[in-house]
Amino acid sequence: MKRKHAIIIGGGLGGLATALRLARANWRVTVCEQSDAFGGKMNRWEQGGFRFDTGPSLITMRRVFAELFEAAGARMDEHLELVPMHPLAEYVYDDGTRFRYSSYLPDWLAIVRALEPRDVDGFFRFMRLGARLFEISQETFFRRPPLDFTPDLRALKAMRHLPLRHAWDNYHRTVAAHFKSPHLRQLFDRYPTYVGSSPYKSPATLAVIPYVEYAFGGWHIKGGLYRLVESLCALAARAGVTLMTNARVERIEREGRRVTGVVLADGTRLAADAVVMNGDASLAGAMLGVKGDTQPAHARSLSGLVFLVGVKRTLPQLAHHAVYFSQDYRREFAQLFDERKFPDDPTVYVSAPSRSDRALVPEGAGETLFIMANAPANDGDEWTETKIQEARARVFARLRQGGFPDIESEIAVADVWTPGRIGARYAMPGGAIYGTHSHGWRRAFLRPPNKDARYAGLYYVGGSTHPGGGTPTVLLSAKITCELIERCET
Ligand SMILES: Cc1cc2nc3c(=O)[nH]c(=O)nc-3n(C[C@H](O)[C@H](O)[C@H](O)COP(=O)(O)OP(=O)(O)OC[C@H]3O[C@@H](n4cnc5c(N)ncnc54)[C@H](O)[C@@H]3O)c2cc1C
Repeated sequence: MKRKHAIIIGGGLGGLATALRLARANWRVTVCEQSDAFGGKMNRWEQGGFRFDTGPSLITMRRVFAELFEAAGARMDEHLELVPMHPLAEYVYDDGTRFRYSSYLPDWLAIVRALEPRDVDGFFRFMRLGARLFEISQETFFRRPPLDFTPDLRALKAMRHLPLRHAWDNYHRTVAAHFKSPHLRQLFDRYPTYVGSSPYKSPATLAVIPYVEYAFGGWHIKGGLYRLVESLCALAARAGVTLMTNARVERIEREGRRVTGVVLADGTRLAADAVVMNGDASLAGAMLGVKGDTQPAHARSLSGLVFLVGVKRTLPQLAHHAVYFSQDYRREFAQLFDERKFPDDPTVYVSAPSRSDRALVPEGAGETLFIMANAPANDGDEWTETKIQEARARVFARLRQGGFPDIESEIAVADVWTPGRIGARYAMPGGAIYGTHSHGWRRAFLRPPNKDARYAGLYYVGGSTHPGGGTPTVLLSAKITCELIERCET
């Protein structure tokens, strides 16, 4: 029997994972990537012997990655070395307080006790809430397309964890109900930003994120996270997947209500039995030549302003991950989401992967720094050199306030990614990193579905579709999408 052909628009993590799974299910697969490299936002940059990941810097839900390798007939530990993060991060506050958030419980509880003894109990209750939400998500949200409520035994069993006190509330209010310490409140309020959202507008169900990180750990990939992309591409090539770069899909072709293939920017036509959109789901309508769902700027998740800095000097005082909190978190998110501007006082995240992985710096000397602040995903924001320098001054002012070493005279290489550059490079409206934000129940749970409602043979995978952004969720999305394709196309 002739093998069916699937075309995947985009070679991001979601596209590559889909390609591997479909190839394993005996599909002929072609991945069309518009840029000159695979991986999408999981990208890398190298200069002068300094090696940077320009996107993700932390892996969570390790199991989901291992499962993808297994689905591709391989073993993750034969391809990649994952390094656990101990501590998970260092937190630095405006008032000078600083501590390391450790997944080694005795160390961590000593810190909580010193901050606020009553919060020891709050921490356990908050983790318990996250654990129960995780249990539910595993059998529902993470495993199925949205609104696919066909009951099965596993889903019904998961539902026994309902109703959950607090789970239906607002995220920040729930954090405040569990922690009295303002420092711990700010720490746990940070987690909705893992999906580009505000703690003040997200539902408490996002408490699953801190639980997952604490229970299953945060991980670095030796040699840089881009190693994952390289491994997936090698496995895809071995499985016979056709991997095309500089192949921008301009149109999705259809006959009546069924898609039949794609047309590339150079006019090449490729016929297909199924087309999977890994680029932003909101762009599919224009590619079909129909009025699709547009994505208004106010519905978008956060973008980011990223400075990549290779420093000549070694900085042993730095943790692999550190967060330098702004003085007024609520004001920062109001500026990001309501005023839609770069904050006056941004919270700054610094990843120094060379602290755990000396292969990332030339001859083992110096450091690679990934310095990021959240930024709004606006249309038409022009990040001029002046605007970048103003924002950089605010970022470094925050770092200085937190006692960050003065590196200005020691910079060997540097690069900057603005929201505009992120948007243009990955064809993501406004440079939104995680598609739409997760504010309110509807947006958090009813993201664009993995199968097109109108056109047969058209599917979606990745951060802009169900179940959402972030590397593990994108891999879960690929699994859901492939199951739908298998169910509907064979
Ligand atoms: C600065 C930054 C930091 C991040 N930090 C983390 C982190 O620490 N942990 C974490 O888990 N996640 C993090 N993320 C998010 C994570 O990178 C994404 O959620 C994930 O990689 C998205 O994968 P994807 O497959 O959905 O899409 P993408 O990576 O966006 O891939 C989509 C691909 O489709 C291509 N494409 C689009 N349109 C077309 C077209 N018409 N034709 C052909 N190709 C097309 C694009 O070029 C792109 O390669 C971060 C992202 C960024 C940018």
